[in-house]
Amino acid sequence: MNRSMSKVDCLEQYPVTRLKGVGPKAAERLLKLGISSVQDLLFHLPIRYQDRTRIIPLGSLKPGQHAVVEAQIQGTEIRFGKRRSLLVHIMDDTGSLTLRFFHFSAAQKNSLQQGRLIRCFAEARRGQQSLEMVHPEYQIIDENQPLPVEQTLTPIYPTTEGMHQLTWRSLTDHALSLLTADGQLTELLPEAIRSEFAFTDLKTAMQQLHRPAISTDILKLEEGDDPARQRLVFEEMLAHQISLRNLRHQHRRHDAPALPDAPQLTSRFMANLSFQLTNAQQRTVDEIYQDMQLAQPMMRLVQGDVGSGKTVVAALAALRAIAAGYQVAMMAPTELLAEQHRNNFSQWLEPLGIKTAWLTGRLKGKARKLLHEALSAGEIQLLIGTHALFQDDVQYHNLGLVIIDEQHRFGVHQRLALKEKGHHVMPHQLVMTATPIPRTLAMTAFADLDISVIDELPPGRKPITTVVIADSRREQVIERVRESCLQGRQAYWVCTLIEESEALQCQAAEDAAADLRERLTDVRIGLVHGRLPAVEKEQIMQQFKQGDLDLLVATTVIEVGVDVPNASLMIIENPERLGLSQLHQLRGRVGRGSLESHCLLLYHPPLSQNGQERLSVMRQTNDGFVIAQKDLELRGPGEVLGTRQTGEMQLRIADMLNDQHWLPAVQRVAETMLVDYPQESAALVRRWIGQRVHYGNV
Ligand code: ADP
Ligand code: MG
Repeated sequence: MNRSMSKVDCLEQYPVTRLKGVGPKAAERLLKLGISSVQDLLFHLPIRYQDRTRIIPLGSLKPGQHAVVEAQIQGTEIRFGKRRSLLVHIMDDTGSLTLRFFHFSAAQKNSLQQGRLIRCFAEARRGQQSLEMVHPEYQIIDENQPLPVEQTLTPIYPTTEGMHQLTWRSLTDHALSLLTADGQLTELLPEAIRSEFAFTDLKTAMQQLHRPAISTDILKLEEGDDPARQRLVFEEMLAHQISLRNLRHQHRRHDAPALPDAPQLTSRFMANLSFQLTNAQQRTVDEIYQDMQLAQPMMRLVQGDVGSGKTVVAALAALRAIAAGYQVAMMAPTELLAEQHRNNFSQWLEPLGIKTAWLTGRLKGKARKLLHEALSAGEIQLLIGTHALFQDDVQYHNLGLVIIDEQHRFGVHQRLALKEKGHHVMPHQLVMTATPIPRTLAMTAFADLDISVIDELPPGRKPITTVVIADSRREQVIERVRESCLQGRQAYWVCTLIEESEALQCQAAEDAAADLRERLTDVRIGLVHGRLPAVEKEQIMQQFKQGDLDLLVATTVIEVGVDVPNASLMIIENPERLGLSQLHQLRGRVGRGSLESHCLLLYHPPLSQNGQERLSVMRQTNDGFVIAQKDLELRGPGEVLGTRQTGEMQLRIADMLNDQHWLPAVQRVAETMLVDYPQESAALVRRWIGQRVHYGNV
């Protein structure tokens, strides 16, 4: 391994503006794609390839084929149909073809003279009479000077407006020639690792990916199975893993309060509880307690299916911190959920003499001031709320533990910002996901956290029966709601709309509620949506919880965490608009008691193939981990993680699903790199992630 870091990496410093043809405009466009150095340019890899190395006889050309052809011009004509077009008829010994241009100049038309030889590249399509190429790339061939054919496969680059493939090719030609001349692209993978995996060296890999040899299997290359690509996939995954693990290493260097066991308080807590912990809950609590007894901050993620009982696990963590004399802050994504936690926690903890309080953006004036005072004086031991918990003016006396519920709405950097609140020590952190995340995805996106999994539901839960029904049968569904409500059970009616339009979603819920009130005069109906004043929302939820309402019409605001055990029927309108994980989370609002529960997915036909497949997954399984995996396969990581987190871990060439077999090796190598090769580790993160992630300044 070349350890002399001072001389190397010149292409990392070599600005693209020094390449031929890169003026201010192009530089700006490149910058938008994160490209400022020649190294960046080389790591901007093609997404597809074309084979332009062979000339295809016209007679064997097939519709849909991208091909190079060479033939003689037979004649041209202008057609005036719906759109004016120039047709050029060409012919070789085996067949004929028509070239069609919608935009053309007189000069262009004149140059396409009968008898001349022309070489074209485009996709062949079925035309009216014969095969056609529309706007092919072409060159007229000088008879005395035969044109050479391409010697490598032709790369197609991911691009942005105003950057043509020809420009990309000429830029990367230049970059590759620099690479060949000076060889100054630093090999950042240590020799031992390259030989362990028999990786191609970086220069060869670059050459192969930008200008693949003729003999390369295009399919394999595009699917990422080519050895050169695999080497870079490994590098990219490694860079991400290093970046997150580095955060974790840095984090661990802080001091945190070592919190001793509190057996007496714990057994009093357990004695008051109306149930026993499941094995999975107990195991998770043990793992949390292991972390909390250390003088370095816990950073643990608890994953569990909807209803697996994460809240009580959080309460046990809180108990240990409070018993040791520290304060605990618990953050929930919505006021509704914060309030529900507040009720649970005060019910569980206040009998033990623990003071809990609730803080949201809504608390103002005198009341807020009093709360701030009580908090900074240490009179409040557990504070529950929304983002408001971490605003600047909130001062803790001695914060020892932060619990973040329904994790996926918070990003890595928000997690880190919490340390500001801990004064001299860093609080322990416990994070809980709303829905399960597939293991491989969690290993990538949460590499800075330790992970516990609650893979068991409390006993006695009845599985939810899910059916998929076209909305043409709405009447019957409404009758079913009536019957259920008249039998004393409660139901949810959920209106969905495209997420961005909250206003429309609320309107849809209002319309649905009005319609249902008209038809179901004997049913007590409430309505909640995001635009109602918080007080009103809360009142309605409270009424529903107490059983004063039979049917709750709602938007997806009820998605997260709401717990009403007597609710056993849920109707979801337009479920095809939501991701599977979100549907699963919604559906988890029923099936919380001992009643048989049902979920009716009321879709609007026609359903796409993908839509059918997705809804049938909901019908087939209640297992959140299986559903999350399917969601990942059908909609990608963004749907499973939520957009913010995905932005932080956008992969350029690696594929979360196809390349997951590398993960165990990547994890192991990341640890070695961080310890033994800190400079190379930092350079890898710069190379692959650049400014998107802060490295080493936590
Ligand atoms: P989630 O993991 O979705 O946050 P909750 O913590 O809200 O789940 O728990 C769901 C319901 O299950 C609550 O009513 C809770 O009191 C109950 N519960 C939790 N653990 C157990 C258990 N071990 N046995 C029986 N019921 C439990
Ligand atoms: Mg919960």
